[in-house]
Amino acid sequence: MKKTTTRLADGRELIYYDAEDTADAVVRDAVDRRPLEPVATHSELRQDRLLGDTVAIASHRQGRTYHPPADECPLCPSTQDRLSEIPDTDYEVVVFENRFPSLAGDAGRCEVVCFTSDHDASFADLTEARARLVLDAWIDRTRELSQLPGVVQVFPFENRGKEIGVTLGHPHGQIYGYPFVTPRTSLMLRTLAEHRERTGRNLFDDVLADEIADGRRIVLSSEHWTAFVPHAAHWPYEVHLFPNRRVPDLLALGEDARAEFPRVYLELLRRFDRIFGPDQPPTPYISGWHQAPFGEPARRDFGLHLELFTIRRTSGKLKYLAGSESGMGAFINDVPPEAAALRLREVASQ
Ligand SMILES: [Zn+2]
Repeated sequence: MKKTTTRLADGRELIYYDAEDTADAVVRDAVDRRPLEPVATHSELRQDRLLGDTVAIASHRQGRTYHPPADECPLCPSTQDRLSEIPDTDYEVVVFENRFPSLAGDAGRCEVVCFTSDHDASFADLTEARARLVLDAWIDRTRELSQLPGVVQVFPFENRGKEIGVTLGHPHGQIYGYPFVTPRTSLMLRTLAEHRERTGRNLFDDVLADEIADGRRIVLSSEHWTAFVPHAAHWPYEVHLFPNRRVPDLLALGEDARAEFPRVYLELLRRFDRIFGPDQPPTPYISGWHQAPFGEPARRDFGLHLELFTIRRTSGKLKYLAGSESGMGAFINDVPPEAAALRLREVASQ
């Protein structure tokens, strides 16, 4: 992999990732010719006094780009006449600091990851080689962001589909470097410690072993990865992808598991698009990596995994987070996890 780091006109960092690192590899020296003002961001972290969790107040985001027409896409490469966020006229994978970050400065960092210069593609359309380059970029960003003083947890994720609230159609994901341990990770760390106390064993190891032994919720398994619908899935179709050998984060993931990941992940995404039948629009989904926070004593017990889920529950119908979920955090799921797993096995590629 070849990595080229540059700066946009307003000072934000942009990094090109290219698969080939050879003497005649592509040179990324295009300059951002836009007359951009330096970014002014004022993220503020506030503590909820009753719950104890953290809320980022980011008022500068109200003016962010919202569903621009395709010929004004800020994530397409630049052309002679049209300047975008990416100065070069082509790219493979590119990462840059978000101009409208939810977290910035001492309050963390937000980055955008473009998976391809093809505006009309989606992650599921990528080749295995390109998906591997995205994985390598996620690993590199996890390493880089972990070294920033304010960052304790790195969350690479993708929101796909306007139903999820995606404001740009170009295939892309994001990476949040949080300056605190997120509420869901805090809950997992607490459950992990309780399980260790009660049984002397590791919770992630036990969950994976139990799902394999039960078998009903397994979606696919390969030499280095297992995908299953969790026993108490929160979402209509939800898959957790675990490496068979537990590691705390992407940095610790072995080369064998890295090499096999693209095939497994692309297959899962393609199955997601087939859940509701061929005449349905692409399945909206959220996909994200759960990694151990840095500096946590319990991090070595944490199990890296990817969680992929859709908010669509049946053709043309979305699962809304209504009173019980939004008001109380108590989920009600209309699709039995065993039925979801069965469907996700039925739609396997031949
Ligand atoms: Zn585009």
